[in-house]
Amino acid sequence: MRKPIIAGNWKMFKHLSDAVEFVEAVKSSIPNKEKVDSVICAPALFLPTLVEQAKGSNLAIGAQTMHFEKEGAFTGEVSPSQLSDIAVSYVVLGHSERREYYNETDAAVNKKTQAAFEYNLTPIVCVGETLEEREAGNTVAKVAGQVRAALEGLSTEQVKQTVIAYEPIWAIGTGKTATAEDANEVCGAVRATVQEIAGPDAAAAIRIQYGGSVKPENIVELLSMEHIDGALVGGASLQSDSYLRLLEAG
Ligand code: PGA
Repeated sequence: MRKPIIAGNWKMFKHLSDAVEFVEAVKSSIPNKEKVDSVICAPALFLPTLVEQAKGSNLAIGAQTMHFEKEGAFTGEVSPSQLSDIAVSYVVLGHSERREYYNETDAAVNKKTQAAFEYNLTPIVCVGETLEEREAGNTVAKVAGQVRAALEGLSTEQVKQTVIAYEPIWAIGTGKTATAEDANEVCGAVRATVQEIAGPDAAAAIRIQYGGSVKPENIVELLSMEHIDGALVGGASLQSDSYLRLLEAG
């Protein structure tokens, strides 16, 4: 069985002191790693502090983006090697906000996914359709295309270790969650795509999260679905009590 993975995505929220307070409040109450993978993806600025603080606990710390090069003249960027050097363990790639506002293309997401494995980071690769694409009946085509592009060139073993986050763009930060059935259907299509690319073992192993207005009130139903193995959570991951309630569902 696939182990659930619940990841908070703090986006550009909190100051360092709030982040430290949050980790202090949750770290002794994080469920056992055997049961659920619990992750907080924090602003890059907080990562060294939070990684140190979370050491020895069941909480893993992730980044929200990175460059694909090891180093170079890329002002303002953070490299996979820099993340790995400070023992960050996860990185969100291709979030729809990055794709929309920072021109992150499928090709860049693929390079970043490969770079994540090179530097021992687990990639959480985001895919999802806009409202227009959904209404035009193009959801599966869009999402399957993003999955194919992101996973190109990975070994079967790497595909198994990748986490895909299906996040319908119209559900992010809007309070509109996809129904559990709709979310499961698209996550099932993602799994079928993975099977075509990398075979049945990879499809059975890869973990697929749902994201988009997940909260303690709806996570249990979402996680009960066959193809949903976790959640990527923005707003509801910002408060420690709400985050711990999300983990309890895992
Ligand atoms: P939300 O964000 O939970 O606030 O909708 C999800 C995300 O963008 O990952």
